[in-house]
Amino acid sequence: MCIEEKLIAVRKRIKKAALSNKRNLSDIELVAVSKRFGPEFIIRALNHGQKIFGENYVQEGVKKIETVNNYLTKIRSSILPKWHFIGPLQSNKAKLVASHFDWVHTVDRIKIVEKLSSARENAKGPLNVCIQINTSGEKTKHGISLSEAPSLVSNICDLPKIKLRGFMTLPSPNTTEDSLRKEYRQLLELKNKLNTDGYFLDTLSMGMSRDLEIAISEGSTIVRVGTAVFGERI
Ligand SMILES: *Cc1c(COP(=O)(O)O)cnc(C)c1O
Repeated sequence: MCIEEKLIAVRKRIKKAALSNKRNLSDIELVAVSKRFGPEFIIRALNHGQKIFGENYVQEGVKKIETVNNYLTKIRSSILPKWHFIGPLQSNKAKLVASHFDWVHTVDRIKIVEKLSSARENAKGPLNVCIQINTSGEKTKHGISLSEAPSLVSNICDLPKIKLRGFMTLPSPNTTEDSLRKEYRQLLELKNKLNTDGYFLDTLSMGMSRDLEIAISEGSTIVRVGTAVFGERI
């Protein structure tokens, strides 16, 4: 299958999952995860209507963003894609991320958000961020626990140039459907709870190639799909 066919297949899966869970299709966005695929793959996906891309590594992502945006400017394209940073973020890279990306999904401490906030240029508008939650409890993983989330949420809300959108999770790869559902549901409950406390969080970044249907049935608003769009990574 070429990228066009794969994109069509992924969009069909999302639509079917939205329908069978009585969700609005317009409430679910597809981030095409292009890590380790060159700019030519991104351009191909763009030509087939994909406008949001996710990158995991700062240097690789920034280089591709510059290449793709330069190309699009040169051909006078009216659409510029949106770029989501979805990888682990170190504070010395915060400036690069704040100046190139539109979203960061992997915020897990106030220090990094402060750096993103002070590096963000006013002209670009606020940087959208999600807090990464470690729902699986694995020690090696990034992200904070559910119980640590409310205080980080309240601290982030005071920062200028940052718009807190919600939560992201990356579940353990070898888990059962039941525990996957449980992890995703905890994120939904956290978001709902904070919204009844007066916040306005509208985003749950959860679901990948293998489990986007499960994530959508548990309230996902952003699915991050790599393999099913671009093929196996080498
Ligand atoms: C690579 C990656 C994805 C995409 O995974 P696929 O299984 O290829 O769809 C999604 N989210 C994060 C954080 C990733 O690193």
